[in-house]
Amino acid sequence: MTEDKIKLTKENFRSGKDILTRATVGDVRIYVARTTRLVRRLSVNHHTSHLATAALGRAVTGALLLAATMKNNEGVGIKIAGDGPIGQVIAEAQGGTARGYVGNPDVFLPPKNGHFDVGGAVGTGTISVTRYTEGMKPFTGTASLVDGEIADDLTNYLWTSEQTPSSVALGVLVTPEGAVQAAGGWFIQCLPDCGEEVLDKLDRNVRQTPYVSSLIDMGFEPGRIIRMLGKGLPVDILDSYPLQFACNCSREKIEGVLRTLPEKELEAMAEDEVTEATCPYCNARYTFSREEIRSLVDKAEK
Ligand code: ZN
Repeated sequence: MTEDKIKLTKENFRSGKDILTRATVGDVRIYVARTTRLVRRLSVNHHTSHLATAALGRAVTGALLLAATMKNNEGVGIKIAGDGPIGQVIAEAQGGTARGYVGNPDVFLPPKNGHFDVGGAVGTGTISVTRYTEGMKPFTGTASLVDGEIADDLTNYLWTSEQTPSSVALGVLVTPEGAVQAAGGWFIQCLPDCGEEVLDKLDRNVRQTPYVSSLIDMGFEPGRIIRMLGKGLPVDILDSYPLQFACNCSREKIEGVLRTLPEKELEAMAEDEVTEATCPYCNARYTFSREEIRSLVDKAEK
């Protein structure tokens, strides 16, 4: 635990600001995040449809929950690549900060069983998780999507790729007008050798717990949700920290992306006076002159 993660005041709880709370319950860790404001901001930044807001909000919340298992300067990236109309869903988190985007923010499908058809929007394909761990090369694992609804896809990924039994719930409530009303999620992570009895009890509790987005909408704090999930077990709340949107893009990083483009594409760009590149996460615009693009072509030739 680092000090950056404990800059939390009573203000954060009372004002309904976004927070993530961590706890241990025997050999199990429970993480609960409230991400309403962050998802609201993402939906405004990217002008997402109701359905795209739900998908992006779930993915970004999932990334924050996975990042909660890592150190503050370490990060995690989630890429959901299905064949559905939303295109790719991308989410990244480091400590209490997150960012993300979807391929098609205008995606629309009719609701399925009264819920957003996120699975239909995502389609079939894969989920990849990249962990940026201190002192190690980034590690990427991939698993097939289960239903494209993201929570079960993450649970399946954690089991098949990282051998971690877990339970993930992610939820976003959107008003008919398209505003984010509540968003959040939980992640129950079993540590190695955790007892069957504890798992059975948690499983029963999970089944009896309402949707996480409904609980957050009703004003339940993450700590209270943890106590619901860990009912009948010794719950030890470890800490809480604030969550917020952040993009660490820069001109250098965007230039790095341009450098990976095929020479032909760069040559086509060099025909224009100015090339404008937009950060897909925060919409920041970076411009490159013809001479700058030319020098990238020259370097590529070498
Ligand atoms: Zn950016």
